[in-house]
Amino acid sequence: MNEADDRAERIMRFVFTLRTKGVADPAVLQAMERIDRGAFVRGVFAERAYEDMPLPIACGQTISQPSVVALMTEALQVGPRDKVLEVGTGSGYQAAVLSLLARRVYTIERHRRLVAEARVLFDRLGLTNITAIAADGSFGLPEQAPFDRILVTAAAEDAPGPLLAQLRVGGIMVVPVGQSDTVQSLIRVRKLETGLEYDELRPVRFVPLLEGMASD
Ligand code: SAH
Repeated sequence: MNEADDRAERIMRFVFTLRTKGVADPAVLQAMERIDRGAFVRGVFAERAYEDMPLPIACGQTISQPSVVALMTEALQVGPRDKVLEVGTGSGYQAAVLSLLARRVYTIERHRRLVAEARVLFDRLGLTNITAIAADGSFGLPEQAPFDRILVTAAAEDAPGPLLAQLRVGGIMVVPVGQSDTVQSLIRVRKLETGLEYDELRPVRFVPLLEGMASD
């Protein structure tokens, strides 16, 4: 089999796995098909990029499991006019997937090195509607608020107050909550005129949302 066939086959199987894990939204599946996860994983792990598992990236962090990326994206119900905030850029993979569904994506990461690497990838892939920022994402990005959608890809004890404040009325936030190192719950929060409405989606396991900037 030649290299192009090999790649097409791998991606077909990748998308099939997402379907078997319950991902049904055609726009999400199409975005996952178009963004090559292999570009976001380095070295010895690159060949495992199409397997449904989290993998190590720089700065001791991880790129999330593809089916979790897809289910979180689906739960966020992103529309083409939406301005989205992601907290926890990591490899940049989740932001890249979001960028195909949203008008504009802001993504924040506390490791400067990860931000620098993600910017290079966004550039190379021609994803011009993503802005990656090195900052403590627990405080959100007040100067760009309000956001239509907010996705947190690190676990907080509770949905962070500053982020809830930066969600527009009618907006949706998806966030893993719970103590670190135990099973956390993926929560969806809708901000309504009348208040916040929470629903619990599924158990997940993420690295913790930490305070302040990292040293690298
Ligand atoms: N979405 C990423 C994976 C996230 S891993 C991807 O697609 O690859 C979680 C990331 O959240 C880590 O890179 C970690 O450094 C970052 N993080 C943790 N606390 C943070 C904070 N307060 N502000 C910004 N980023 C944070």
